[in-house]
Amino acid sequence: MSTVQPIGENLYVLDDGRVRQFLMTGDRQALLIDTGFEDSRVLDAVRSVTNLPIQVVLTHGDRDHAGGLRDFGSCRLHRGDWHLIPEGIGLEPLEEGEVLTCGGYRLEVVEIPGHTLGSIALVEREKRLLFPGDSVQRAGPIYMFGSHRNLDLYIASQKKLCAWADKVDTVLPCHHDCPIDPSYIEKDLEDALALKAGALPSEPHPFLPCRTYHGKWTDFYYQP
Ligand SMILES: [Zn+2]
Repeated sequence: MSTVQPIGENLYVLDDGRVRQFLMTGDRQALLIDTGFEDSRVLDAVRSVTNLPIQVVLTHGDRDHAGGLRDFGSCRLHRGDWHLIPEGIGLEPLEEGEVLTCGGYRLEVVEIPGHTLGSIALVEREKRLLFPGDSVQRAGPIYMFGSHRNLDLYIASQKKLCAWADKVDTVLPCHHDCPIDPSYIEKDLEDALALKAGALPSEPHPFLPCRTYHGKWTDFYYQP
């Protein structure tokens, strides 16, 4: 089961060692960002904190973020990733500029397609937090191979996120180091541009159908 750690007022990080989720607790409802793998038992971790009804929001539809959805039944997810979700889950759209509130947090939706076509980030302006899903990481690897990913869109989205870099102090990624500082938005962009230009050293991945590319700040799993 994921471990649960409070990291701020009404804010918890859930982590099973592979992927993390974020939980906010309000007066009448809790808000959960992502649901882990199928076997992460995220609902059990959430229930160790709160018995409130839970609204689920996904940063994107990859199975390490959407795997626990069966335990929750429904979620908010950008339409660009609906095709990644199995039948039987209730889906409600999520779009640029929407605001989700819970427990004193006010989360603005920023569309950042690239890592997946329906990837979003959530920004808390007052508390200066950024929840980037998998799109901003230190060291990575950032998964960029497969038909539902697009490097050009990823580069455009990192440029868009750069405009937020001076409005946040803390970036809370779903993988690897957490928290990281906002400079990684630009650092990951720098490496993605070098990846696009064919300037990064690489070797074949031992079992995935892609190569591992080594940027200065992050690795990518990518297949041109
Ligand atoms: Zn992930």
